[in-house]
Amino acid sequence: MAFITLNKNNFFNILDIISKRSKAKDKIALVLKDNAYGHGLLEVASLAQEYGISRAVVQSVAEAKKIEDFFEYILVLADFPKEKSKKTRYTINDIKTIKQFPKNTKVELKVDTGMHRNGIAMSELEAAFEMIKKQELRLEAVFTHHGCADELGEFFDLQNRNFDEVKRSSKELAKKYGFGELRFHSCNSAALFRTENFDEDMARVGIAAYGCMQLPSAFDEKALKPVLSLFAKKISSRELKKGDRVGYGATYTADKDCVVSSYDFGYGDGFLRVCSNNYSTPNNIKLLGRISMDNSSFLSDENELLIFDDARVVAREAKTIGYEVLTSLKADIKRVLV
Ligand SMILES: *Cc1c(COP(=O)(O)O)cnc(C)c1O
Repeated sequence: MAFITLNKNNFFNILDIISKRSKAKDKIALVLKDNAYGHGLLEVASLAQEYGISRAVVQSVAEAKKIEDFFEYILVLADFPKEKSKKTRYTINDIKTIKQFPKNTKVELKVDTGMHRNGIAMSELEAAFEMIKKQELRLEAVFTHHGCADELGEFFDLQNRNFDEVKRSSKELAKKYGFGELRFHSCNSAALFRTENFDEDMARVGIAAYGCMQLPSAFDEKALKPVLSLFAKKISSRELKKGDRVGYGATYTADKDCVVSSYDFGYGDGFLRVCSNNYSTPNNIKLLGRISMDNSSFLSDENELLIFDDARVVAREAKTIGYEVLTSLKADIKRVLV
């Protein structure tokens, strides 16, 4: 069976680097949505706990529940409480949903500072504080999300300026409506690595922690080494004569006599099918023909093949981003710590 290895050394080195940037371990909120970016939710939660990370971010209550024992603080990005949980905080993504949170729920208010995806409008800030008060929710933080932190250009700075304004107003409103001191956070991975002298209360770090951040070359993230590698096992081998064809659609034609083997990693397991006929492994072994659901063929006779050790390389061939390559990996692939 195909399997994934998680490199603990690389992960801990990365967390050292991130802690330096965030100024403290407990300012890192590790983003674990989508099965920890395909790395395995419980495997990564357990490693993070061992390292001393106390905060996590997930999308849903179901995910939060699974990792409750590993963290002190869990931020749910888009869901509503199903039962009581001391550790969980819920995101307000839209002013119209404030009424849906039960009394005493710990909430964090997301403000749209320009990405126009989730969050209340900046002009709705006071109305939101008033409704949160009326609903008797426990407002702990105000945050925003960047749309362009991984691209050069002025949009990143514009959102930062907008969020500065949100912070100023929120501090006044917190006093006016009798909330305690608020926490503020805006940085994802790219934003944290672009920010000199980070001074917020927390950074929500996903892709950087997995060693697959992609920033414009003006920024150096080379010290972050990918955590995940994917290996596949041979199913069968055969000798081909020059002119023989391989796979569905017979799209590959052998240009000489060779040995080809099929390996147990296909698009049903998360291998992006657009890589068909257009990918070589880190050891330069060529993928031949179309990727099938549970198989792919390589010019190799090895029993075990390293398919990739850097999702960004696959992403480049597939004209997508490392995030998609990683989150495509199915949860039933075995994760092994190395
Ligand atoms: C996914 C997500 C993050 C993490 O982003 P990375 O680019 O992976 O660091 C942070 N904040 C929010 C709101 C997210 O949805």
